[in-house]
Amino acid sequence: MEEIFPGVFVIINEKGGANLGFIIGKTGVVVIDTSLFVQKARELKDYINSITKRPIIAVINTHYHPDHSFGNAAFNCQIISHETTAEIMKNMSEEYIKNIVSKTDLADDFQKFSIKLPNMTFKKSKKIDLGDRLLEITHVGGHTEDSSVVFIKPFNVLFAGDFVVNDYHPEIVPDSDLKTWMKKLKQILKWNIDFVIPGHGSIGNKQSLVDMYDYLKKIQEVSKGIKNGKIDLILDEISRESNFSNRKFPELLIHALKILITSET
Ligand SMILES: [Zn+2]
Repeated sequence: MEEIFPGVFVIINEKGGANLGFIIGKTGVVVIDTSLFVQKARELKDYINSITKRPIIAVINTHYHPDHSFGNAAFNCQIISHETTAEIMKNMSEEYIKNIVSKTDLADDFQKFSIKLPNMTFKKSKKIDLGDRLLEITHVGGHTEDSSVVFIKPFNVLFAGDFVVNDYHPEIVPDSDLKTWMKKLKQILKWNIDFVIPGHGSIGNKQSLVDMYDYLKKIQEVSKGIKNGKIDLILDEISRESNFSNRKFPELLIHALKILITSET
């Protein structure tokens, strides 16, 4: 855990799992993402309550992916997300949840696990004023249709969710939209940002947005190249590019390419 600015806490998952954060302001505490594990989220809640008397007034889910939202169950406060996040979570099948939960140490107490849905949603953006700190949540899409980012003023810190991933290959899923993703990265690059907290990987800055953009642009070219039969040439090329070769979890790259080469665009 790191307090990067007074009251701005970041919990980087060293094993590549989702990063979490919380902001302590004058009027209360807001948690950003809750991890896959209810137990871990509970420990986070207890920790927050041990360092401040101010109440936890809200949890924000940057998107619906379980590693960012299943820990919601530990919290008894407002859960804020984009309206699509709530919609997707509401419609998660028992089978989908069971499949995720069986891969985690929640497996033993699956009977006890139930999804906690967001109960306050927004369409484009939402502000949370904590008196001396302002959180601005903005819907961006891209990684998933419902992805959002959270900007913290006055510190110019961007909690990016999986819109930005450092150190690891980003998760490109069937509902990712590369075009939107890149367009929004370009827009957000114009913001006055000093620190970027990615959904996975270490703390970065504006360069993380640039790397993400370059990565997506390249992987788009790569998938086109593979479709055109230039597979050896292309793989050789990206293996020499540090924005690819320095990232961990290559299975995510393979997964992404499989999705991209079978998709229409
Ligand atoms: Zn995700």
